[in-house]
Amino acid sequence: MSPSSENPILVIANRLPVTLSRSSRGLERRHSTGGLVSALDPLLTHRGGTWVGWPGTKLREGEQLARPDDPYPMVPVELSASEVNRYYHGFSNATLWPLFHSLPDRARFDRHCWDSYETVNRRFAEVAAEWSDGAELVWVHDYQLLRTPLHLRRIRPDARIAYFLHIPFPPYDLFRLLPWDRELLRGLLAADLVGFHVRGYAQNFLECVERLLAQRVDRDSGLIEHGERTVQVEAFPIGIDFRQYEQRAMAVQQREPRREKVVLGVDRLDYTKGISQRLRAFERLLEMHPEHREKVVLLQLAVPSRDQVSEYQQLKREIDELVGRINGRFATSGWSPIQYLYRSLPPERLSQLYRDSDVALITPLRDGMNLVAKEFVASQVDDPGVLVLSRLAGAAETMREAILVNPFDIDGTAGAVHRALTMDEAERRSRIVALRRRERRNSVDLWANSFLAGARAAGGKLAPPADSEFDAWVGEFLRGYHLALFLDYDGTLARIADHPSAADLSPGMRDALVRCASRDDTDVGIVSGRSLDDVSKMVGLEPILYAGNHGLEIEGPGIRRFTHEDLGHYRQRLQELARDLEETCIPGAWVEEKGASLTFHYREADETQHVRLAEEAQRKIRAAGFQSRQALCAVEARPPIGWDKGHAVLHILRTRYGPAWSASVRPVYAGDDETDEDVFRVLSGLGRTFRVGSADVPTTADRQLADVDAVLAMLQYLARR
Ligand code: UDP
Repeated sequence: MSPSSENPILVIANRLPVTLSRSSRGLERRHSTGGLVSALDPLLTHRGGTWVGWPGTKLREGEQLARPDDPYPMVPVELSASEVNRYYHGFSNATLWPLFHSLPDRARFDRHCWDSYETVNRRFAEVAAEWSDGAELVWVHDYQLLRTPLHLRRIRPDARIAYFLHIPFPPYDLFRLLPWDRELLRGLLAADLVGFHVRGYAQNFLECVERLLAQRVDRDSGLIEHGERTVQVEAFPIGIDFRQYEQRAMAVQQREPRREKVVLGVDRLDYTKGISQRLRAFERLLEMHPEHREKVVLLQLAVPSRDQVSEYQQLKREIDELVGRINGRFATSGWSPIQYLYRSLPPERLSQLYRDSDVALITPLRDGMNLVAKEFVASQVDDPGVLVLSRLAGAAETMREAILVNPFDIDGTAGAVHRALTMDEAERRSRIVALRRRERRNSVDLWANSFLAGARAAGGKLAPPADSEFDAWVGEFLRGYHLALFLDYDGTLARIADHPSAADLSPGMRDALVRCASRDDTDVGIVSGRSLDDVSKMVGLEPILYAGNHGLEIEGPGIRRFTHEDLGHYRQRLQELARDLEETCIPGAWVEEKGASLTFHYREADETQHVRLAEEAQRKIRAAGFQSRQALCAVEARPPIGWDKGHAVLHILRTRYGPAWSASVRPVYAGDDETDEDVFRVLSGLGRTFRVGSADVPTTADRQLADVDAVLAMLQYLARR
């Protein structure tokens, strides 16, 4: 069953390419339909790979999804009834679907649904991780799985992950309505490539990342600096299996010559499709152009969708009533203006409708792409029809030869239909020829192959930050003010090393610090978790202020030496704790005493012992009445004094420049870990703050800097500004 291939891919999508359902005859399995399956099924069959997804129903004990003749493994992800409700109907379809389609009034925001979305996204990643060995690429699909790339990255840091969104990505002003906006962005940024249908969606995404996560973005090349990784963002407009639609259209019987012209609408019954507006536009056509009465019908096919959801039931009633009212108003003994079908049709019947219609009226209020428009075009194998297309569908970005309309403009749409109905054959043919040529070329195979090529090629790098960027981030902010520049040491000024004593300052960094500190309008302070003695020795520069032990000890120009008053009380107990932790040490583990705090290091101890060592250290630290904090291969113990780096920075600002310091001094702070977040919070709005390094963690800093090199570039800028 599993075809061997050198480059198998792992697909993760909400649904599997087969759907299970349970009836009186037992478990039934049918092939799923839709654009995603028709694009990826041949790809996996041909190249080999695996598909992870939800089968649509729960398997009972002993039941199997897989069959021996399956062309590739299909791996089910199980969902409980409550998860189907909250993750799928709730967060995916009642929150993300309307919001991403720019219909925020319809979006519901519910924390329980978000929690379930997170849980299910993690589960998809966990199941997929078990199948990802040997996969060249893990390809995650669509809005139900925006957080899955992040969970997968945590389990498989080295996997190549790509993501494609099949619906629109909304503009910044709408996206930020979501209470979990940053979480979703971070979910996607764990991928190496993030793909959208059209450039506009990609640009929206880049803008959201830049403004909400404060990360560096190059809009022209579509690159995002995400900590130490770079993410490529690109548009890949999906196509259809053009030949299949063309051949089917040629194979179906030609219609009987009929009295009326046919305007065709084909949609899932969904509020994004603009069906009510379309019906009203058709009504308007009959008012404005009575000559079309008894000569034209609107054939509207509405495919049932999400029909257990009350909002969709309500929409159905609304459309039923509208059709009834318009038909009641205009129908004559031999003619009804609207023929309305609420069902799905087999492919041959659909192809016949496409081929035989004079006008396709496709007017979604918003649509990621819209495949119906493309299928209609592929089916114009005879007397060509006219495509009237909403300019708010992704398809309109490329299908420029269609008659483009604003679906909210009822009169305008009516006018466009009139124009389509009266267009001469020469113009119809010119338009359809150009449309068909593009769709034939940009078929779904090309889409899949371009995406895979894009995923393979992703890995570009942004140029280091330029002066113009620092101007925007800090230069403007500092104009006319004195700069109080605060910097964390490890991970910010010096790269993390195996042993703290090896984390030296580079000559370039030392030089930049000296040059900053020698300016009359700038003071420099180092704020570290190391002891005051240790950090001042590591840096070794005179005119600089030092705060050690997370700010419990401060010393430097312009300030009296400060030691937190509660510290004496804990020194003795800290030494006892150090002795206790010595007993936990095995080779490679050691205790660093820092006077006012201590750190238990285990980076060089046997890796299988890491978890045990960390847990034991944490337990001992808490039992001794100290606060424990997990760092990288280390656990820190701090006295439970309500004082952190944030308090220290404020203390320095007040003592050095007076209580009204904010009238003349502007602080800038850069730090790389959790303890620096206390400063980011305190300085929000008062200063400019930078979080250095890993971008996967939430931060309240104003901006992110990729690494120590970017900090150096900023110091060099500040030194010569
Ligand atoms: N479709 C179908 N059965 C029908 C009518 C339509 O399977 O009776 C298909 C249609 O061929 C198209 C898809 O449904 O491939 C609709 O895709 P589109 O991108 O237009 O909208 P979506 O439903 O994905 O929002």
